[in-house]
Amino acid sequence: MEEKKVINFSPGPAKLPEDVLARAQKEFLNFNNTGVSVMELSHRSADFSQIIGHAERDLRDLLEIPDNYKVIFVQGGGTGQFSAVPLNLIDLKPGASADYIVTGSWSAKSAKEAEKYGKINRVLPKTEKYSVIPDQSTWNLSPEASYVYYCANETIHGVEFQFIPETNGVPLVCDMSSNILSKRVDVSKFGVIFAGAQKNIGCAGATLVIIREDLIGFSDPICPILMDYKTQVGNNSLYNTPPTYSIYIMGLVFQWIKEHGGVAQMEKNSRQKSTILYDIIDNSNGFYQCPIERDSRSRMNITFRIGVNFEDEALEKKFIDEAHQNGLISLKGHRSVGGIRVSIYNAVHVHEAEKLGEFMKNFQRLNI
Ligand SMILES: *Cc1c(COP(=O)(O)O)cnc(C)c1O
Repeated sequence: MEEKKVINFSPGPAKLPEDVLARAQKEFLNFNNTGVSVMELSHRSADFSQIIGHAERDLRDLLEIPDNYKVIFVQGGGTGQFSAVPLNLIDLKPGASADYIVTGSWSAKSAKEAEKYGKINRVLPKTEKYSVIPDQSTWNLSPEASYVYYCANETIHGVEFQFIPETNGVPLVCDMSSNILSKRVDVSKFGVIFAGAQKNIGCAGATLVIIREDLIGFSDPICPILMDYKTQVGNNSLYNTPPTYSIYIMGLVFQWIKEHGGVAQMEKNSRQKSTILYDIIDNSNGFYQCPIERDSRSRMNITFRIGVNFEDEALEKKFIDEAHQNGLISLKGHRSVGGIRVSIYNAVHVHEAEKLGEFMKNFQRLNI
């Protein structure tokens, strides 16, 4: 297909595979000879049933999800799950609190939301500067907790867990919104995994939730019916109208991953892309600085500052502007942290990361 004029490094909604967009375009007006668009199909039609069923089967294959886990597709984004998780799980052990491992903005937000519904224990000392995943030996986990919550990849700060926390039997809940399907994970270690689609697996509107069966059915009586895992599981995500088009796109992304070597290949690619960029940062004699400690660095969102005098905001603006003129777009860091953020999700090709790397080297040469 036609080569795009820009390379999109957006943190989300983010780049989708070209093939997925082309396929959606081809099927846009007339899906599978139905004569209508996916957008116009009843969510209870046989055709949509195929779409959602296929998406679930492909996801199960890709992640090797064990049979005692349910998969649902819901609305509300990652943020919706910040509320749904405590509303469904806080009463697992009546009177108990939930442990939150806060390592960046997203887990901080989820802990704050959970506090509305129950007692929360923050297992790490409070900080504003998120630059590391502290060693598990320093955590203050409670053996009595209803669940332990963490965010696998902090999209804003660029901090990623390189391991799965050990909770000694307490159900583990994970926000994988920005790194799901970018590496192999042992699903059996988790109680709940959720992910909004628009970072790594589709377009905005749909949220994926994977839930271990024995954790279903404990929701708080005030839990909105839409957020109740039992309702959504019991109705195969069709209690009310689900985000049909977004689920369709997610299904196409799953097929694309399967056709491109599966999760193992995505993992390899992400390692390769992130290594290209971190090597340039680390070999820049301080021109580029990554504030994240080496073994906590994200493979998906690479954050750095520019300037031998540290955080030269004028130079950072120049970098973003000149990159944009060269077709390298959406590189501005999150407004809460500043600097540069390069998001390289599954859909970003290795050669695209290389192209940005070339630009970074040239920019340093010309601005040192
Ligand atoms: C983007 C993001 C969210 C929030 O997702 P919404 O769909 O906007 O609610 C939550 N967690 C992580 C890790 C994210 O990257």
